[in-house]
Amino acid sequence: YQLDHFVIPGHYKDDVESILIPHGLIMDRIAKLAQIITSEYDSERIVVCCVLKGGHQFFSDLVNYMKKALNKQGKTLPMTLDFIRVKSYENDKSTGKVHVSMSEKELQELKGKNLLLVEDIIDTGNTMKKLLETLDKYEPKSVKVASLLLKKTPLSCGYVPDYVGFAVPDLFVVGYCLDYNDIFRDLDHICAISEVGKSKYAA
Ligand code: 5GP
Ligand code: MG
Ligand code: MG
Repeated sequence: YQLDHFVIPGHYKDDVESILIPHGLIMDRIAKLAQIITSEYDSERIVVCCVLKGGHQFFSDLVNYMKKALNKQGKTLPMTLDFIRVKSYENDKSTGKVHVSMSEKELQELKGKNLLLVEDIIDTGNTMKKLLETLDKYEPKSVKVASLLLKKTPLSCGYVPDYVGFAVPDLFVVGYCLDYNDIFRDLDHICAISEVGKSKYAA
């Protein structure tokens, strides 16, 4: 058998150009981020909200590390876990429209809460800006954003999240739950997609 198939799964071997951030490095960074984030909160319960689907893996690992981290007062931090679905991309292009799926009732329950949004990647920043504008109307007490990745792009709208795992170059990246038309979520590392991969999985 081929050893490299344990690094890049065999079914993706022609579909990625390179590994940008290996899984172990992602985990080390998230452990550190979890300590930093937790240490900036008091003992009041926070709502950690996963921005689906891309943020799922980061959310899951971040929350696990945050459970073991200590807050400003050296205590564990009570967390409520929530999920929001936001969709803006087709193929590797933003559609310009942002679709937020959370019921009116769920949105109203955010009033007075300390919200921590967990996102996979900020590219132009338009999605997060729109999401924050929407959530703001429901008057949460505080809103912070943790994004695993921040893309260095000239198309940035200027939005910068409160917490960032890594900066990445202006490439379409996949893996660790980041997708291309829902493909590549089952890849541990963050990789640059190849031209073969782009055409193979085009919508
Ligand atoms: P933005 O509105 O900041 O341009 O894009 C936000 C969303 O688009 C991200 O949350 C992510 O879901 C998707 N996106 C942007 N760039 C990439 C990328 O390089 N790879 C993947 N898989 N998704 C991306
Ligand atoms: Mg996302
Ligand atoms: Mg996506």
